[in-house]
Amino acid sequence: MHTVLAGRGLVKKYGSTTALAGVDIEVGERDSLAVMGPSGSGKSTLLHVLAGIVRPDDGQVLLRGERVDRLGENRLSALRRKRFGFVFQFGQLLPELPAEENIALPLMLEGVPRREAVAHARRWFAPLGLEGLELRRPGQLSGGQAQRVAIARALVVEPDVVFADEPTGALDQTTSTEVIRLLTSVTRDQGAALVMVTHDADVAAHCGRVVQVRDGRISGHHQYTVA
Ligand code: ADP
Repeated sequence: MHTVLAGRGLVKKYGSTTALAGVDIEVGERDSLAVMGPSGSGKSTLLHVLAGIVRPDDGQVLLRGERVDRLGENRLSALRRKRFGFVFQFGQLLPELPAEENIALPLMLEGVPRREAVAHARRWFAPLGLEGLELRRPGQLSGGQAQRVAIARALVVEPDVVFADEPTGALDQTTSTEVIRLLTSVTRDQGAALVMVTHDADVAAHCGRVVQVRDGRISGHHQYTVA
């Protein structure tokens, strides 16, 4: 496996609470990793530390072998914008912008002119089954369509890693399956790695690997053979 992102000996404490107690984890190109575990076990903290949102108290985060956990705030936020994509449960789209501009936004934030960014964003509508919805605002999309727009937005910068936190948490079972299939397949086609927190075993089963987190430690691994 060609490692894209690795965490080594990650420790994070909040006062007397140890959220991460020494976690070693890695993901490779086209690899998808589901992080499961009970509430309060440290899943979100792990995702946030790997994504450079929360700094670990100890241990290292390496992106393609380069240490990123000690970067200054400006370099870290530039790295998050350019090399990482994020998909959350809901509420991540800007309600006043049409779908195509929501997808184009990360490019515009990087200084790509609006027309060019929107042209680039439009390429994502077909692979995600969103043709014809380019000018709809988030309020005019179904929950599943909105999540597919969010997936396109996460991928438009061609990130190394996509982080997803309960990406199907607000969807019904059928829609959830559709969205998770698209999320895993387009991320893999793009050559990116996927790290996803989910409490849903059916959703996790679409990932190549599953790790269980318990009391801030990895307590179990399961490897699926992805067809
Ligand atoms: P999970 O995502 O598995 O529910 P979290 O990573 O959110 O778990 O939390 C792990 C532990 O760290 C919990 O005990 C939680 O209360 C604590 N924790 C998480 N974030 C904070 C924070 N910002 N301040 C204080 N405690 C926190």
